[in-house]
Amino acid sequence: MSETARTLFAGALVWPGLERLVGEPPFPADVLVEGNRIAAIARAPARLPREGAAVIDCAGAALIPGLVDGHSHLSFVEVTNFADIGDIPPEEHAFIAMHNARKVLAAGFTSCLSAGAAKPRLDVALRNEIAAGRIPGPRLLAASPELTTTGGLGDERRLHMYRESVAMIVDGADEVRRAVRTLCREGVDTIKLNVSGNHTLPAGKAHLTLMSEAELAAAVEAAHSFDKRVAAHCRSAASVKLALARGVEIIYHCDFADDEALDLLEDARDRVFLAPAVGMMHDTIYRSEAFGVGYERARARGLLEELESVCRVYTELRKRGLRVLVGGDYGFPWSPHGANARDLEHFVRLFGYRPDEALDAATRLGAEAMQLGEALGFVREGRLADLLLVRGRPFEDVALLQQPENLLVVMKDGVVHKAPPGAGAARLPLAA
Ligand SMILES: [Zn+2]
Repeated sequence: MSETARTLFAGALVWPGLERLVGEPPFPADVLVEGNRIAAIARAPARLPREGAAVIDCAGAALIPGLVDGHSHLSFVEVTNFADIGDIPPEEHAFIAMHNARKVLAAGFTSCLSAGAAKPRLDVALRNEIAAGRIPGPRLLAASPELTTTGGLGDERRLHMYRESVAMIVDGADEVRRAVRTLCREGVDTIKLNVSGNHTLPAGKAHLTLMSEAELAAAVEAAHSFDKRVAAHCRSAASVKLALARGVEIIYHCDFADDEALDLLEDARDRVFLAPAVGMMHDTIYRSEAFGVGYERARARGLLEELESVCRVYTELRKRGLRVLVGGDYGFPWSPHGANARDLEHFVRLFGYRPDEALDAATRLGAEAMQLGEALGFVREGRLADLLLVRGRPFEDVALLQQPENLLVVMKDGVVHKAPPGAGAARLPLAA
């Protein structure tokens, strides 16, 4: 593109985003994108000139900010066990992650906060290729592999057999510190720690806390010395309290948070982001039958009680004003990459969010968690042009976002990654 590309969204119903949970109602407008920014917005009946722009007719469609997944694993490969992911050589794995990134972007997620790479440099390399514009994918904050302790989530070894997994196994503060420093040297944005157990572990169930305070403290100290944030897998109440006490910035799950943990979370609401990552749990119960798990097995593993607890916790945390991110651990067979928008419906159905509030979690809050709160998250003049054109009124029915045919345009950084057939496509700034 020799001159600055201009794309005009003509006659869109603009959902600009919520400011502190109250927003102006959606309004009809023309929106002009120049280069990678939203250059002008003219509310109807005013119109913007068509000359020199590729024009997209937006009749019957809403223009909203691009979505942010706050708990993504672009290098998970839709298999049921982590040892099978560990078996994949790094060369093939990088291509798989690249394909996943394209799928997630096509589903309207223009940013991803990674919650763990399956190998140390997968996210780093993927982030760099996407940022350089060489491959399509969401804006990505690269995570480390999940740092876990012996017997913790991601330790697939047996006494008689070594197995690789998605995690790095570290025991004791010294090993943790060395691993964190190494990963920071290798370019990650976020250090991921597995602090609590998980329902999938035979011995280390979700209500248990497996990483010690000394190990967690060493990880946070080392990460902060490199000016990196820490994200932690914390299902047990004690793990949530430990993470808060030691300055973890992003706390995932919080399934079994007790009253004390809820109070501590409320006290920290301006400095932490949370993500329940409820999509995977929900779909393991209700969508995994064809993949050899199913409702009865999920129930036997205690997942029904766990989901019930998650619903109680997040219904309460919503009332207390916590910053809760959409993003549901997509990348399993029953919750594949690209199905990420299911999470918004979970927020509405399971946690009592209003539809526009769920959309706010996926846009404004997501942008803040990406550390791009000043640049993204709103349809507003001067903001980066990460935009979705969606058939219907997604701010009233977030389930619309799950149907690919409703996503008419996906634009990231001013570049169109999905366009309606024939809609001025010849002149749109299309991705290669
Ligand atoms: Zn996860």
